[in-house]
Amino acid sequence: MTIRLARGLPASVLGLALVAVLAGALPRSEAGPASPPAPDKDALVAHVAALAGPAMNGRGSPEDREKAAAHVEKALREAGVKDVPGRTGFRCPFPASASRPAGVNLAGWVAGEKADEYVIVSAHYDHLGKKADGTYFGADDNATGVAALVEVARALAAGEKPVRSVMVAAFDLEETQDMGSAAFAKAPPLPLERCAAFVTADMLGRSLADLFPGLLLVMGGERADGLAEAVKGVSPEVGITVREMGMDFNSLGWSDYVAFEERKVPCLFLTSGACRDYHRPEDVPEKVDAAALHARTRWMLGLVRALCGLPARPVWKTTPDPRLVEIETIHALVKGFGEQEAALGVPPMVAAMRKAFEDNLAATLARGKVDAKERAAIRNQALMLFRMASQLR
Ligand SMILES: [Zn+2]
Repeated sequence: MTIRLARGLPASVLGLALVAVLAGALPRSEAGPASPPAPDKDALVAHVAALAGPAMNGRGSPEDREKAAAHVEKALREAGVKDVPGRTGFRCPFPASASRPAGVNLAGWVAGEKADEYVIVSAHYDHLGKKADGTYFGADDNATGVAALVEVARALAAGEKPVRSVMVAAFDLEETQDMGSAAFAKAPPLPLERCAAFVTADMLGRSLADLFPGLLLVMGGERADGLAEAVKGVSPEVGITVREMGMDFNSLGWSDYVAFEERKVPCLFLTSGACRDYHRPEDVPEKVDAAALHARTRWMLGLVRALCGLPARPVWKTTPDPRLVEIETIHALVKGFGEQEAALGVPPMVAAMRKAFEDNLAATLARGKVDAKERAAIRNQALMLFRMASQLR
């Protein structure tokens, strides 16, 4: 993610932020049967170690981004990913302009039964590189998402043919205002009119402020009925809890879905949330929760298969309806915080505010419906909390 937050929020707000952050992501115990072949945990760990290791220097300079692109290119080729029809090779370079450095996106193809419709699954491979205070290795952000992308692609290519085809995309320059994905959407390898849905994974190895192990946030389902249907249809995975939120709850602002949303492509954003080492040199491979990354990747594979198999293409909604499932997510997070606030030393006043918010959310859930006005108020309060959570260290 690219950060767009103002620093230096008042300490009282910070406590509230904590609340939001702490939400309760309790692991589910029921497991669906995994359809072989499946993402491999050791391969995920190895990709994270390579991409976020010392040799790539944080994937920030043109040379280091090239090393990362070459790694991903080779990994996708070995995974059985083919060229996009009509193209040779995975590389989609884009030139520098007055406002943008040059970069290289990658695009590959897993053929489905339908060649005329495809689903994009993606992750950005760049990070922040070296700065005065050290190397920003970018393990969670976003070596984990790229590792998941490769392993999802491998399982798709080796497994039963999906119904729709899959375009596998690795983006450059996300950390520079999403410039890689913006260039890709502007000049896509195939027309976006044929793209049924877009999925991007950004940070899948830690959790929101490291307070919710196993949390997987899925955002964007409000934008098309088919998306929410696909999300609901994916079998749960042991060790993670999948929770939905509207895309407008992304308090960090951007990720690679933005340029596709602008073109009304139904988008889903998968993230475990910004950890405490978000955009810091301490975001290193050793801190990634490999078991959770593995479970999230298996779920992501199920999601991509579900999107490929939807009977009808998701239809973009200009004005999404407020959804109770989002209130359930916020309520779970706020409640989860409450369960941890004693250990966090939350001041009593903040604890009281948190409890009031939780009670409000519970009342909304009890009514079984939420209107646009109420959702807007809840969103404001939740965003404030998320922002503060991002200040936790
Ligand atoms: Zn990122």
